[in-house]
Amino acid sequence: MNVLKISNLKVKTANKAILHGISLVVKPSEIHAIMGPNGSGKSTLAQTLAGHPAYQVTAGEVRLNDLDLLELSPDQRAQKGLFLAFQYPVEVPGVSVQNFLKQAYEARFEGNLGKKFKKVIEFRAYVSRLAENFKINPEFLARGLNEGFSGGEKKQLEILQMAVLEPKYAILDETDSGLDIDAIKKVAAGVNQIVKNTHCGVLVITHYQRILDYIKPDFVHVLIGGKIVTSGGPALVAQLEKSGYTDLLEE
Ligand code: ADP
Ligand code: MG
Repeated sequence: MNVLKISNLKVKTANKAILHGISLVVKPSEIHAIMGPNGSGKSTLAQTLAGHPAYQVTAGEVRLNDLDLLELSPDQRAQKGLFLAFQYPVEVPGVSVQNFLKQAYEARFEGNLGKKFKKVIEFRAYVSRLAENFKINPEFLARGLNEGFSGGEKKQLEILQMAVLEPKYAILDETDSGLDIDAIKKVAAGVNQIVKNTHCGVLVITHYQRILDYIKPDFVHVLIGGKIVTSGGPALVAQLEKSGYTDLLEE
């Protein structure tokens, strides 16, 4: 079984310790929510898992089965099946969504489109079917990656990317930020479908409970001041919604 195991992870930036020992085990098809106020270290955790060079690991381990992920480059991590949806997706003008997805697919599956698709046209048809399934406007596929797309559209395209890449583990950092309720529902439906079809494990990172109404977590962890201060089942979401983080901050 593919297990993502984070053990006693400590992370700092150039001059500041941010994460003070995070431990977490995520298994296939599990959805874990990481909740916490602004500045608690949620994005730092996501960026560290993805291999962002600004974040230096000072202790601990991240393993995908027997693989030491921290030893791998960001590209290698993606190739091994880690996917990160950014809080702020970058625009890549001049590279169409279709072409970007093809390149990303080839990178993920070792340059080999041919195992599953005999011709590029078949891959394109597959992407179009997925897009249709996620109710994404087919015209988007010909446009520049994220270029001129609304916040909701960018997030939808990220979910399409996730579907195409079939990651083992996906990290969604504030995927709901700036989205209206219809966009959140679309994105959540996409994520739920991917988990069901591919048994991908997911870390849903959010400071806000709303997306968790649509992506139901199996486990909830509260991150405050760079530490997981409490973990529980889905009922913890409702409890936090009522009492906020203040009670936990005072402990
Ligand atoms: P969250 O995503 O929970 O809002 P972040 O992980 O973005 O929190 O930030 C946690 C803390 O680390 C904040 O105080 C932030 O200013 C600091 N921080 C994050 N990234 C950097 C960085 N690249 N350089 C310096 N400080 C950073
Ligand atoms: Mg953040």
